[in-house]
Amino acid sequence: MNLALLFDDDFIRTDRALLRGRRLEHLKSTLKVSTGDRIPVGRVNGAMGFGEIMTLSDQEAELRVTLEGSPPPGLPLTLILAMPRPKMFRRVLQTCASLGVKDIWLINSYKVEKSFWQTPWLADESLKENLTLGLEQAKDTVMPQVHIRKLFKPFVEDELPALLAGKRALVAHPGTATPCPTHLSGPAVLCVGPEGGFTDYEVEKLEAAGCDSVHLGARILRVETAVPVLVSRLFDACL
Ligand code: SAM
Repeated sequence: MNLALLFDDDFIRTDRALLRGRRLEHLKSTLKVSTGDRIPVGRVNGAMGFGEIMTLSDQEAELRVTLEGSPPPGLPLTLILAMPRPKMFRRVLQTCASLGVKDIWLINSYKVEKSFWQTPWLADESLKENLTLGLEQAKDTVMPQVHIRKLFKPFVEDELPALLAGKRALVAHPGTATPCPTHLSGPAVLCVGPEGGFTDYEVEKLEAAGCDSVHLGARILRVETAVPVLVSRLFDACL
């Protein structure tokens, strides 16, 4: 936690916030703070600054909060991700939040197991928790938006064309002819497949909607590796 992300219900006054639970534990066990110390904080979807520790007990830490700076800019990227298996999903979400991805669409695909959609990690609170961990890691405050689409064809036919309008649109697909581009300067949409890859039909549908298939070389990467490699390759800003 390189920044404590503060939510509205953490504030007891305009400039005072209470930290409990995980964040308090981190302050005490990892950062080993004392009264009077300052820690980096940010208000969700707002400014960043510091919190001076006014009181510290086993139950809570009271911070005097000064917010003075802007969070880093988000990436101009819409990430469309075939729903990963649950244990990978949490890590991918955290990674996306840390990288500055602000718009995430979780979609179905033939090789997504139906059970993946039952994961408790898809509950609103769990999404928020994992995105918060990613933001706190990277010192950012702007919460990514997550959209869930459990039917591939209606999403690709009815919604995707509008999402792609005016943007560079890519589908990462091993074995295609075109290498993934680098140093993009404008907005982009990136589709990443499931563990077993997109089917030929799905790639055709994504291409028909306007996506170009691109590859990352001969090595097939796990989704959790492919996402940060693709994103950092596309945008210098996340380095
Ligand atoms: N056997 C699958 C295939 O050939 O498509 C492998 C899928 S890979 C584990 C999961 C996803 O990560 C892929 O659908 C793709 O979006 C992305 N990916 C992984 N390695 C890649 C590479 N070398 N080139 C392009 N995309 C890659």
